Amino acid sequence: MAIQYELLILRYGELALKGRNRATFENLLVKQTTRALSDLKGWQLKRPSRRWVLNIGGNDVGEVIKRLQRVFGYVSFSPAVLVKEPTLEKLQETAAKMALESAQNKDTFKVSTRRVDKKFPYDSYSVSRELGAAILKATADSLRVDVHNPNWLLNVEIREEGAYLFSETLIGAGGLPYGSAAKSLLLLSGGIDSPVAGYLIMKRGSVVEGLHFHSYPFTSERAKEKVIDLANQLATFTGNFRIHFISLTEIQKELKLKVDPDLNITILRRFMYRIAEALADKEQALALVTGESIGQVASQTIESVYTINAVTNMPILRPLCGMDKEEIILRAKSIGTYETSILPYEDCCTIFLPEHPETKPRLSEALEAEAKLKVDKLIQAALSTHEILDVQA
Ligand code: ATP
Ligand code: MG
Repeated sequence: MAIQYELLILRYGELALKGRNRATFENLLVKQTTRALSDLKGWQLKRPSRRWVLNIGGNDVGEVIKRLQRVFGYVSFSPAVLVKEPTLEKLQETAAKMALESAQNKDTFKVSTRRVDKKFPYDSYSVSRELGAAILKATADSLRVDVHNPNWLLNVEIREEGAYLFSETLIGAGGLPYGSAAKSLLLLSGGIDSPVAGYLIMKRGSVVEGLHFHSYPFTSERAKEKVIDLANQLATFTGNFRIHFISLTEIQKELKLKVDPDLNITILRRFMYRIAEALADKEQALALVTGESIGQVASQTIESVYTINAVTNMPILRPLCGMDKEEIILRAKSIGTYETSILPYEDCCTIFLPEHPETKPRLSEALEAEAKLKVDKLIQAALSTHEILDVQA
């Protein structure tokens, strides 16, 4: 009979959870776990010790893992069998069954035992040896023991509540539980980079909200839908994602009239940062996040970053700054945003894009250009177009 995995061992990163923060972190992780599994019935999370064990009820273990792989904070998972009131014979029987089932096409194995409950009458070495012997017998010697580099590893953990046996470890999303860091505001375009940047900061526990600039009617409803789709994808990691929309149309018209085309994008981006800072203050976000990567385009040279960044003292997190496009694309694919990001709808930055944007804009040039503009008034006008949309996963 096939082994029924009723349990899933859940592991979270120990290091970040040390000290007084532990309880807070753990509670946030429980909350996110509950959310991720909210439409499944019958499961139960047990924390008998530092070991977290999910009783999956009647659910499919693969489905449960798939969902928990989108919960930040978990490092790995192992489907496990719990042998209650374990005896050596019972453990041998289960170990043999597991080997027959999952070590079919393997040639070497090892049993690794941890005896946390010292009341169990055999030490860990004896348990490993005896279970190893049972496995060899059950598999008719088709497996060999290799203690250094086994193809199949059976872990046995003997604890108060029973003995856990597991052989498979699946990787989790890692990071820190959602909500364990302060709020930040992601400048979310429809491109490939910014959703990945937002993901990486969400993964560090920050409650990330998006700010999308549009230039309606020059940008279309489809472009907006695309951003909503991206937000939807990000929401699959946290349950929800808030997007703020602000129009840059008036500012762009003004820049077209009054600013040297080569400096247009520099000045536009300075406006974006100023507006983002004002919104962040209002929404109690403590940092901005962008998808900038050094040298990727004219507005992302170090000179550009310097000149654009000069409008704000707010921390700007640029988690992609050292990544190549290929690396960013791989990430975008793995988090599921890539296919949406490459849809061709126009972005507000591209519609008035000059042919030869300045790659080394100087701060003095930017200040000179802005002297001809009513900067505060333009910012206030843009802020008055603010709309909010909450996306649920
Ligand atoms: P992305 O793929 O994220 O669009 P990009 O490589 O196209 O980035 P830029 O267009 O220079 O680069 O944008 C750099 C960053 O500025 C983006 O990653 C994003 O954080 C922000 N940004 C650009 N356009 C917008 C927009 N319309 N609304 C909000 N933020 C934007
Ligand atoms: Mg872009």
